[in-house]
Amino acid sequence: MRLHRLFHVLLAFTLGIGLLAGRLLWLQTWGGAAPRGSAAADATAMSVRQRAQGVTLDPGRGHIADRSGEPLTGVTVEGLLLLPGGAERLTESERRQLARILNVSPMRLSDEWRKADRPTWWNPGARDGGASPAPLTREQAEAIRRLRLAGATVASAVKRYPEARIAAHLVGFVAEQPERMTALYEKQLVDGQLSLSTPIGAAGLELAFDRLLHGAGESRIVSYIDGHGAGLDGLGVKTVGSSNPYYPLRLITTVDAAAQRAVEAAADAAGLDKGAVVVLDAATSDIVAMASRPAYEAERLSPQGDDWANRAIRAVAPGSIMKSFVAAVALEEGVVRPDETFDCDGTYGRYGLTCWKEGGHGHITFAEALAASCNIAFAEVGERLDGETLQRYAGALGVIGTVGWKGVSDVDGRPLSQLPEEQANRLFAASPSDADGGILAQTAIGQRDTRWTPLAAANWMATLARGGAPASPRAAAELRYADGHAVERYAAKALPGGAAAISPRTTRLVRGMLEGVVQSGTGASLRNASWPLAGKSGTAEATAGGRDVVHQWFAGYGPVDRPRYAVAVLAESRPLGSANRATAVFKAVMEALAALPE
Ligand SMILES: [Zn+2]
Repeated sequence: MRLHRLFHVLLAFTLGIGLLAGRLLWLQTWGGAAPRGSAAADATAMSVRQRAQGVTLDPGRGHIADRSGEPLTGVTVEGLLLLPGGAERLTESERRQLARILNVSPMRLSDEWRKADRPTWWNPGARDGGASPAPLTREQAEAIRRLRLAGATVASAVKRYPEARIAAHLVGFVAEQPERMTALYEKQLVDGQLSLSTPIGAAGLELAFDRLLHGAGESRIVSYIDGHGAGLDGLGVKTVGSSNPYYPLRLITTVDAAAQRAVEAAADAAGLDKGAVVVLDAATSDIVAMASRPAYEAERLSPQGDDWANRAIRAVAPGSIMKSFVAAVALEEGVVRPDETFDCDGTYGRYGLTCWKEGGHGHITFAEALAASCNIAFAEVGERLDGETLQRYAGALGVIGTVGWKGVSDVDGRPLSQLPEEQANRLFAASPSDADGGILAQTAIGQRDTRWTPLAAANWMATLARGGAPASPRAAAELRYADGHAVERYAAKALPGGAAAISPRTTRLVRGMLEGVVQSGTGASLRNASWPLAGKSGTAEATAGGRDVVHQWFAGYGPVDRPRYAVAVLAESRPLGSANRATAVFKAVMEALAALPE
């Protein structure tokens, strides 16, 4: 009779899963790095709480999926669950065999196992204390099952985030945040629907839709371990808890997972180490893909830095992509014609303003000035406009304030912002009526107080691409019950006050000028792309960590005749004088999109 058969225990326990992975790390290491007023800052104030002995398998939280239902959260993995005291119940032969399957030494296996004072996933070196499993290969899982161990079992767990995540910044992450939980969900806490240790949305769509993603109550896995049986496998693991067929809910985003995957791979291969890519459906401004770099792992958040921040919705100086907007306003206002000529000798003669091209562009038309990104011509045109006029167009066209989808949820009648962390775009730091000649000239070339997000830049290009009708980019289209029926839909929205801010004629003229950028201007490296492309480059001076750097941009659309995608790329904090990496990334992204099956 084997020793373990002497044990006659009935042990019920709950298993921790990926939802909880990393929450202790979050609590312990976030430190003072978080911006004030953010979810992260709330997390900073959290106290480290003792993890309960039993943890929830699935709090019933809704999942997030791409436009065709491919999951962006929630992946089932198999792991090895270790029971306390189980190491002592192994035969020497079992110990060696199991160690070999796990690719560790028998000594390491025993040492790790002895640390388990409660049911714990095998995950040596993980910083979450065994709250999530080290995924086993199918072969490993089968081999372990064949050992029929008494003190350990192979079990399935749902991790909230897969190892190879896509759209990680847009989707965001959950974390345990007792203080926010208390502030936001007092009623649910009193009802027992939520507990202080339930992870809640800390960033991205997880944050935006947090209150709508709570389920009908938690599910737990309960496992019975009986020494009389043939080990754990024969006894099974069963789920108890919510059996409501309508849950968990599923948030259907506008993201195309295939495009997202291709865009992220292309951006990484083209060397985007800090910055963002936004891909919008040119017809609707729906977000098809959105990537931010550096990447982060929800389970291993860096105590310093803000890698988790979505740079696609952070506002920075737009540099010369601003000229595409100034061109539209100036043409619509009739203060310039595309064939009007300007003389650039390299200096403006006022405000210390110079052209980036030493010696100047000479005698050029306004259209050529956009293609060549001439500062002198645009400073002059900027001075023909006034601050209030620019501000009015910017408001109508979505390059001031926020542009992401905002509305009201039918579920609770409360305001819902799909991108609550989106920073506001702006033209001027002070009142537009205070904009003097110097401010206008510098603003017109994107060098003063103007701030754009990559999302706003892509949305502006989408507006041009579809003929001048501005829309509010959506990230999510529908919230669904588990059975597929809609809880609520988030209908596409025009930007408030944006109808026909610029005429079809102006749109046509600006589009022609943006094609010129690629045909004979600063975007000439895009000329041999698979699709004919149009767009505008930008370089904005900035400082980062006390160094002078530049933010490099490229925003445009393609194919030019029948635009499918509007794309903005921001490459942040690049060395002065370096080649525009955003243009290279833009090309790589457009090539990746062109290669996708229709
Ligand atoms: Zn010039």
